[in-house]
Amino acid sequence: AQTAAAVKKYTFGTDATYPPFEYQKDGKYIGIDIDLINAIAKEEGFEVELKPMNFKGIIPAITSKQLDGAIAGISITDERKQVVGLSDPYYQAGLSLIVREDNTTIKTPEDLKGKVIAIKKGTAGAKLADEYGKKYGATVKYFDDSPAMYQEVANKNADVTIEDFPVISYKIAVDPNSKLKIVGDRLNGDNYGIAVSKENEELMKKINDGLKKVKANGKYDEIISTYMGKST
Ligand code: GLN
Repeated sequence: AQTAAAVKKYTFGTDATYPPFEYQKDGKYIGIDIDLINAIAKEEGFEVELKPMNFKGIIPAITSKQLDGAIAGISITDERKQVVGLSDPYYQAGLSLIVREDNTTIKTPEDLKGKVIAIKKGTAGAKLADEYGKKYGATVKYFDDSPAMYQEVANKNADVTIEDFPVISYKIAVDPNSKLKIVGDRLNGDNYGIAVSKENEELMKKINDGLKKVKANGKYDEIISTYMGKST
């Protein structure tokens, strides 16, 4: 017979400081990703245990089976698809260049010659930063989390950072003292997916099924508007 003990519990890694997708408030993790994975779990009848960590550690923790999956604003890339399963897309983000609000010289990646880029380790933005570093002779400085890299630009220790557009838009909207501004168009159109261990097809199916259901029943839209109200 099915008992409460039979409900499967899966561990999901998440970025610790990534509003509006995941962040702490009053000692609790909240955000679009947190509500979304919980809504999917509810539809599909599993339990979620969150493991907040630095972004860089998330995919390796899935491949080494320390995590069953992760929801962390993870961009779906061909490179990542080779090592983890990635769900259907659930949010279109894309990367933006960010400078200090008083900067007037950087408008496009071509303006990065000899400049310093602050970036978060292990991200799609870091890949781009490495590319720009080589192509335009820029220096890349690596950080563990987004707040640290924003601070580096605000403090003039770096000229530019690269962050996901919805995340930096939210930051600038809710923090009048951020000292940051977005320049130019989005550099790409990355989509977010939920990552799952490649071998765990059962969980991947539950996630894609659950995602479809929460999109169809309005829960997904409700979650987005709960957190995005301020920045859109
Ligand atoms: N979307 C970006 C990536 O997947 C950044 C995610 C994050 O910093 N949490 O690399």
